[in-house]
Amino acid sequence: MLALEAVRKEYPGGVVALDDVTLDVAEGELAAIVGPSGSGKSTMLHLAGTLDRPTAGRVLVAGHDVSALADRRVAALRARTIGFVFQQFHLAQGVSALDNVADGLLYLGVPLRRRRERAGQALERVGLGHRLTHRPHELSGGERQRVAIARAVVAAPRLLLADEPTGNLDSASGAGVVALLKELNAAGTTVLVITHDHDLAAGLPRRILMRDGRVTDDHRPLARPGGGAGATAGSRP
Ligand code: ADP
Repeated sequence: MLALEAVRKEYPGGVVALDDVTLDVAEGELAAIVGPSGSGKSTMLHLAGTLDRPTAGRVLVAGHDVSALADRRVAALRARTIGFVFQQFHLAQGVSALDNVADGLLYLGVPLRRRRERAGQALERVGLGHRLTHRPHELSGGERQRVAIARAVVAAPRLLLADEPTGNLDSASGAGVVALLKELNAAGTTVLVITHDHDLAAGLPRRILMRDGRVTDDHRPLARPGGGAGATAGSRP
């Protein structure tokens, strides 16, 4: 689903945010990216989400080499394949939950009526079928993040990228959001979550640890069918 090959990302001014990162995420995985502030997590998620390009190395999304595609093709790949969830929700104020979610289909050329139908279904799916006409300021933090998740998945992306999705939530709402991400993953979506929250990370099958722009550890379940839960392999120095 996602591959980073010897990826380096340098920002203007000479900051090396990612330094020789190689990583594979298979379709159907649910993985946390964990590490201190400034370790390169958001940069990695931006590159995985095709929002930015590496200085060196390759990023492949669903088998497509992002650097080899024209901007227009990258935008189409992103719209069809990837959903994003952010810590700050990024909902349009003064716009109903239904229309916030329907906007997730804008770039796919879906007619308005069909966008709203699908938005309603996505909101049902995240448990907000009773909040369609509410605007963001009329919703709790946990509900806002559910709306943002509905928007992220309304186009049925294969890959869902979440940057600190529970960072602004109390622990009960955060747990609800994590449960929802697990449900979406169980239904087939590949999910990658940045988090500071070690408890959250500990509850996910795979944990990718970052420090100073490098992957320092990668705890993953054994890939054998029927393999023991909780086993780890593939730790890399
Ligand atoms: P994290 O998400 O783990 O906090 P980031 O990927 O945001 O880490 O940042 C990694 C490093 O890159 C940090 O040193 C940060 O200051 C720097 N950085 C991030 N974005 C930019 C940018 N747009 N321009 C310059 N430096 C940046």
